[in-house]
Amino acid sequence: MRDNRIKTFYTSKQVLQKDNTNFSKSPLKPKLLIEYLEKQNLSAHFDIISDFRRFSENDFLVAHTKEYVSAFFKGNKPLCESNSLRWSLQFADSIRYTNSSLYHAIKHSIEHPEHICFAPVSGMHHATPERGGSFCSMSGQVIASIKIFREFGLSGAYLDLDGHYGNSIEDSRYFVEDLDKAIPIGCNINPFGRHQNYIDDLKEHLEDLGEKILSGKIHYLVFAHGADSHESDDLGGQCSTAEWMQSSELVYDFVKDVSVKMKKPLPLTLALFGGYRQDDFDSVLSLHTADLVTCLNKLVEARIHFEPDVKVEEPEA
Ligand SMILES: [Zn+2]
Repeated sequence: MRDNRIKTFYTSKQVLQKDNTNFSKSPLKPKLLIEYLEKQNLSAHFDIISDFRRFSENDFLVAHTKEYVSAFFKGNKPLCESNSLRWSLQFADSIRYTNSSLYHAIKHSIEHPEHICFAPVSGMHHATPERGGSFCSMSGQVIASIKIFREFGLSGAYLDLDGHYGNSIEDSRYFVEDLDKAIPIGCNINPFGRHQNYIDDLKEHLEDLGEKILSGKIHYLVFAHGADSHESDDLGGQCSTAEWMQSSELVYDFVKDVSVKMKKPLPLTLALFGGYRQDDFDSVLSLHTADLVTCLNKLVEARIHFEPDVKVEEPEA
C-alpha cells in the first residue's frame, strides 16, 4: 500500500553552513541527520528530493507582518534575532528552504498518499506573526497549511511531540483569516503531562483525531517527534527512552489503522523539531533515526533493527 522509501525534501541550502556558536544545533540538524543515516547504512530507505523552490518574501507574508519579514531578510536587529539565533545572510536564506521543505513535503504527500514524506526541519513552532521566538524564525506550519488549503481546499492536523508547546499555530489564528479551516481548532496536538500521563494524553488525542479523519474533517497529518521530549534532553523531558519510542509506535500504529479504515493511505509528512543535547548530539540524532525506523517498520514492514543509543547524562559535579 505504501512505497517503501521515504521521500525526503532536503537540500544543503536549508542548513546553516557555518555553526556560529548558537546554543541550538537545529539550523545544522538536517545535514547532521542525513550524515547520521548514512553512517547507520539507512540511506537506501530515503529518496532525497532537492529541486524544490525556496520561499519568497511573499510566501512568509501569509503568516507574518511586512515589518518582521523585511527586518528578518534584511538583517535588521533586534527583530531579525528575535529567534535567539545569530543572524547571517546565509542563515536567513536557509529559512526560505526549511519552510519550503515542509510545504513541498505535505503537498507531495497529498498528491501521492502512497509516499511517506519527510521534511527534516525544525525551528518553526514558536514563531508568531510579529516576530520569531525560542530558536524559531518563521511559522512554517501555518504557511504550509494555508498554502495547501488555498490550493487544494484540504485541512491538516499536526502531532507536535516536541517537548515544548507549539504556540505558533494558535498565536497566528487572529492574524491569518482562513487558518481555522486550514488547521482546525484542536488539530495542533501537543500531548500534556509526563511519563504515563503523557502517553495516556497522546492516546486520547489520537482517538479524537481518528474520528476527525474518518469523518472527512482532516485530510493529512504532519508528525514531528521532537527529541527534546526525551528526559535526558537539555531543554525538555517528558519521556524515558521506552516512553518516547512507545509514542512513535502509537502514532504509526494509528496511521496504519486509520488508513485501513479509510481504504487508502492517510497522507503523512514527518518533521524533526527540537532536540538539544550539548554533551552528545548523537543522542538526538539517534532518537530521530529510531523514530524514522519505527515508521518504516510499521508502515512498510521494513524489518530494520535499530535501537536508539541515548547517552546517560553525566551527573553534575
Ligand atoms: Zn522544543
